[in-house]
Amino acid sequence: MDRFRYLPGVVTLQIDVRRCDGCRMCVIVCPHAVFCMQDKKARILDADACMECGACAKNCPSGAITVRSGVGCATAMLIETLHRGSCCGG
Ligand code: SF4
Ligand code: SF4
Repeated sequence: MDRFRYLPGVVTLQIDVRRCDGCRMCVIVCPHAVFCMQDKKARILDADACMECGACAKNCPSGAITVRSGVGCATAMLIETLHRGSCCGG
């Protein structure tokens, strides 16, 4: 299945690696594989894949992640729908 992608370079997702305790929760909950682990710290692997759903920030026990959730996912779905010319993906 194709993955939705947001507009390139505008995502509000940020991580403060100094606060990361390496629990991997963000890697687990992110539905778009935005994060990876490197040297026991989470890193942003693919920021433009982020739909700004907010799950990572809500589940990060260290408060290391910030993202302005709300409109990103809806915007991405509208863009994808317009590109496909159908609301049913066909
Ligand atoms: S959820 Fe937070 S503390 Fe855990 S790995 Fe991700 S950024 Fe680090
Ligand atoms: S906001 Fe959602 S899509 Fe974006 S990195 Fe966090 S969990 Fe993944």
